[in-house]
Amino acid sequence: MSTDLKIEGVSKNYGSVSALRDIDMSVERGSFLCLLGPSGCGKTTLLRIIAGFEQATAGRLLLDGTDVSGVPPHKRGFGMVFQSLALFPHMSVAQNIAYGLKLRGIDKARQRDRVEELLNVIELPTIADRPVAALSGGQRQRVAIARALAVQPKLFLLDEPLSALDAKLRENMQIELRQLQRKFGVTTVLVTHDQTEAMMLADQLVIMDHGVIRQSGAPSEVYRAPADAFVADFLGTANVVQGEVMEDGAVMFLGMRAQDKALQVQGAKVEVAIRAENIGVVEKGSPERSTLGRVEFVRDLGPSVESIIAVGEEKLRVRSRASEVTSLSAGQQVGLKIDPELCSFFSR
Ligand code: ATP
Repeated sequence: MSTDLKIEGVSKNYGSVSALRDIDMSVERGSFLCLLGPSGCGKTTLLRIIAGFEQATAGRLLLDGTDVSGVPPHKRGFGMVFQSLALFPHMSVAQNIAYGLKLRGIDKARQRDRVEELLNVIELPTIADRPVAALSGGQRQRVAIARALAVQPKLFLLDEPLSALDAKLRENMQIELRQLQRKFGVTTVLVTHDQTEAMMLADQLVIMDHGVIRQSGAPSEVYRAPADAFVADFLGTANVVQGEVMEDGAVMFLGMRAQDKALQVQGAKVEVAIRAENIGVVEKGSPERSTLGRVEFVRDLGPSVESIIAVGEEKLRVRSRASEVTSLSAGQQVGLKIDPELCSFFSR
């Protein structure tokens, strides 16, 4: 049932606007890929090209090795869920889920069985006869997913499907969506601008910016080893500060030296990305300290304490575990512990 998808050299121009530039990407059979990037980066355009709603200006799409670039959307056999959901409001839940099956001429008894099976999978076995209008946001979401999966799609495409839900429900739905995708084993591409959502769902994360792919890989890999300062800054909370390569190859930044020979940066100027959670706050006299800073702002969020700490001209966002910093206050001088091994260095 499940397929693999390859995108080769896809570009899209809208007049003089270049929305996508030479995109190469492959999605393994049964895996979950998230397209992530800021507004206008081209992720929706790419999804619409995969769905067949847009034609690429150049390039092609291969489904299990077959070029489907010229196949119209309704003949591609894909399941889709968009932000607006587009459930049929005048139909019951069962009629909505069975819609695609009916179009395909599946007989009534098999439609009923499949609807029952899907309602069990989405853990709403008793709502078959309810009108869609009488469902909660989360229930509608699950019904939309069940409807898309009813026809055993070759590819499952989702565009910001959870963005209308409140934060708590959204988190729960992310877990459910991931479990459903696994259960069905369907190759899936989801578009989001929410990095937590993408980290939560993806086997493969594709970070886009200005119509190009900046980095692609497993979420933990992209998080730990960002390819450039844009990715470091976009994913999680990172501080990107300026550094300088010294004659002996060490990098000076934030008044500290990083003597890491593995840096392999060229040129005198570098950018150093340091994640907020990788900056330790210690006593200013502590032998562990790498540099000194002054606390400008502190907020206790319960499990973590967020602070802004100035080091010279740079203002660092720092995230500490609540148990690790007991009494931070604005104006205080503190020591900062920064491990260069946990920083990313980029040539400028
Ligand atoms: P968002 O998260 O805001 O939806 P996105 O990353 O999905 O953004 P796209 O909607 O793919 O971005 O748009 C990419 C670029 O292409 C943008 O500059 C956008 O203005 C442009 N664009 C998209 N659709 C069209 C269109 N039909 N005509 C002209 N320009 C378009």
